[in-house]
Amino acid sequence: MSDRYGDSTRAVKAVNSQPVPGEPVGPGPVMASAFHLSDDEGSEPNTYGRAGNPTWCQLEAALAELEGATTALSFGSGMAAITAALRVTAKAGSVLVVPADGYYQVRRFAAESLAPLGVTVREANADQIYEAAGSADVVLAETPTNPALDVVDLHRLAEICRERGARLLVDNTTPTPLGQQPLSLGADLVVASATKALAGHSDLLAGYVAGSHPELMALLERERLLSGAILGSFEAWLVLRSLGSLGLRFERQCQNAMALAGAFRHHPKVRSVRYPGLPGDPSYPAAVGQMRRFGGLVSIELPDAAAVHALVRRSELLVAATSFGGIHTSVDRRARWGDPVPDGFARISAGIEDTDDLVSDILAALDG
Ligand SMILES: *Cc1c(COP(=O)(O)O)cnc(C)c1O
Repeated sequence: MSDRYGDSTRAVKAVNSQPVPGEPVGPGPVMASAFHLSDDEGSEPNTYGRAGNPTWCQLEAALAELEGATTALSFGSGMAAITAALRVTAKAGSVLVVPADGYYQVRRFAAESLAPLGVTVREANADQIYEAAGSADVVLAETPTNPALDVVDLHRLAEICRERGARLLVDNTTPTPLGQQPLSLGADLVVASATKALAGHSDLLAGYVAGSHPELMALLERERLLSGAILGSFEAWLVLRSLGSLGLRFERQCQNAMALAGAFRHHPKVRSVRYPGLPGDPSYPAAVGQMRRFGGLVSIELPDAAAVHALVRRSELLVAATSFGGIHTSVDRRARWGDPVPDGFARISAGIEDTDDLVSDILAALDG
């Protein structure tokens, strides 16, 4: 699709069905486990629901388009997608680098399921990952990191991986393909949770892997078939339906996040604020070099856990919830999940409320 199109146009065009007269403009989900077979065996586009489904195909074509990949594969959750990609790329004897400051269950999977198979697992922060990549076979980067919002310079990391012949996987959940396109920056695979901003309505789990290496994508499809970590057709359809409004939602989320970061910046009750799009943030220079939008997440530090709870209680708009990327602005106190952050550290996911309403509500709740 042409680069001349903006993000909302690209998202709408990506989910468009072919204009066949009499066929629905927005086709519904195809709910099927078995498809009619042909005498010409092997010619069928669909045979069995774990191997393929027309609704997946539509969703995967849209995801591939947005990520700038030849192929995307849907999975039942972000973890299903990430673990499939790691199982396919990291083998006995491989050195695998995973983010020390990224999604915590990925580290657990590497330690509990890959290390016993003979994979050497190393954890690296955003600032240590370049050095760690110098002796790795597979590198998984997450940027901006979750929850600290540090940015990994993907050009630089991809160059190190290319020289060494290591595979680079990038978790693109936080920025979505409208915020960042890791494949164009040198990654071999994008892995992501579609549960967050991509689907965006806090009502389903989904994941995907996108890439352009035919052998790697074939191995991943095989892995999905054999592991059975598939996305239900109805969920696939809901994600597809959500993709059409991703441009609008994400634009507002980014705008709200930027406004909140600006409002928090000099607030006496806020000890620190992190947002990659805030000039002066340690991540800003790297973010400007590779991100098209800075995302909907802002991290702040309040004095203690009670201050985070009070913020949510006094606000009329904030909801306390883990996960992020939904239409509601939500707050998650990450220390409760064991992230190595202070007790008063809160990750705020900006929703799609009117910016002025959101900023005044949160400032009033902070001052309460
Ligand atoms: C949520 C999340 C995941 C896991 O996705 P699920 O859909 O919950 O399985 C992976 N990576 C990041 C960065 C996430 O935020």
